[in-house]
Amino acid sequence: MKVETDVVIVGTGVAGLFSALNLPSDRKILMLTKEDCESSDSFLAQGGICVLRDEEDYESFFEDTMKAGHYENRKESVDIMIRESREVINDLIRYGVDFEKENGELTYTREGAHSKPRILYHEDITGKEITSKLLAKVRELPNVNIMEYTTMTDFIVENNRCFGVVAKHNYKDAQELQIYADNTILATGGIGGNYQHSTNFPHLTGDAIRIGQKYGVKMEHLDYVQIHPTTLYSKKPGRRFLISESVRGEGAVLYNKNKERFVNELLPRDVVANAIREQMKKDGTDFVWLSMEHIAKEEILKHFPNIYQRCLEEGYDVTKECIPVVPAQHYFMGGVWVDSDSKTSMEHLYAAGETSCNGVHGKNRLASNSLLESLVFAKRAAKKIKENYKAE
Ligand SMILES: Cc1cc2nc3c(=O)[nH]c(=O)nc-3n(C[C@H](O)[C@H](O)[C@H](O)COP(=O)(O)OP(=O)(O)OC[C@H]3O[C@@H](n4cnc5c(N)ncnc54)[C@H](O)[C@@H]3O)c2cc1C
Repeated sequence: MKVETDVVIVGTGVAGLFSALNLPSDRKILMLTKEDCESSDSFLAQGGICVLRDEEDYESFFEDTMKAGHYENRKESVDIMIRESREVINDLIRYGVDFEKENGELTYTREGAHSKPRILYHEDITGKEITSKLLAKVRELPNVNIMEYTTMTDFIVENNRCFGVVAKHNYKDAQELQIYADNTILATGGIGGNYQHSTNFPHLTGDAIRIGQKYGVKMEHLDYVQIHPTTLYSKKPGRRFLISESVRGEGAVLYNKNKERFVNELLPRDVVANAIREQMKKDGTDFVWLSMEHIAKEEILKHFPNIYQRCLEEGYDVTKECIPVVPAQHYFMGGVWVDSDSKTSMEHLYAAGETSCNGVHGKNRLASNSLLESLVFAKRAAKKIKENYKAE
């Protein structure tokens, strides 16, 4: 079946939703998602979202991002992300996102490898707070149509120009949809579904990357995969539950089997994950311990209610005892290469969010930079498309 639209957006996480909100309101937009709208990694984000607090913080925010990325980051992209962060946060607040405040002022927390507190948060469910508010706003737009349980299976391409995508509803014998669009935005998230142990939703399998490769779309750093140091150890199959870095930022410590500390918990993620692996090898264990004994019970209940509840369901009271944690696949720094307007190497094809690689994260992502990077560069994709429509 042939479907015609102005812009097709594949993915309804923060990158897809924020693109839709920033595209011209007189253009027809069709959004696809492989599952329901709530099943995206954006809903899972716990710790928070970074922002440039003030001009004085610029140098240190830039340096923290570069250092965590082993200085393989694209400097221009890092600069754009930091400079445009306040504007994006103001957009979110306008859309009704409720960040933690004290006496009417925004409160900032800190995570691993950040030299200062510069992370806004909503309890330990920041992703759900942001994404649900964006989704509600998109649902109000009369020019946007969302198709759930619909999977992109191919691009429509001629002479390195994208004319849309091929998709299929996820039920047996569904008809193939040929979705023709002036512009296509890939916002299909990460690749965790390809791993046995991952914090990601299992349906996130890097489809845009696989299809893009078929057409020679430029890719970057496909081997740069981030392993998160602390997920709750479980013998059960399925998605691993993340114990956010902000727990360590607030004072949680890691212990070996003898309950001794073995690493500075606030080092970058890759360094901490490697130290845990080495310790597990030395101890002959499948996990190490994480202790929240240095965080006040009231703080745990106020800042980390979701983690507290989930651990309780698994049989651990984090206010009284250590929990077993293990590293797991978490984030993909590489992806579809894009320029600073989120344009890929194929004409009329854009990519934003985790599926894209604009170089912000280099070899290793700094905590809480992902939501920000996704939003900043999704907005830039929408702006570029808007400009091109105007110029026609
Ligand atoms: C547990 C967890 C905690 C995190 N915490 C933080 C945090 O505190 N701060 C932070 O900055 N980042 C955090 N992250 C990372 C961040 O959440 C993600 O990188 C970000 O939300 C990615 O957004 P996205 O829009 O690119 O992708 P997603 O939100 O993953 O959305 C991908 C979308 O693409 C759709 N899709 C995929 N393939 C297809 C296809 N073939 N056809 C149709 N649709 C498709 C999916 O259904 C989904 O709608 C966390 C991630 C996880 C997993």
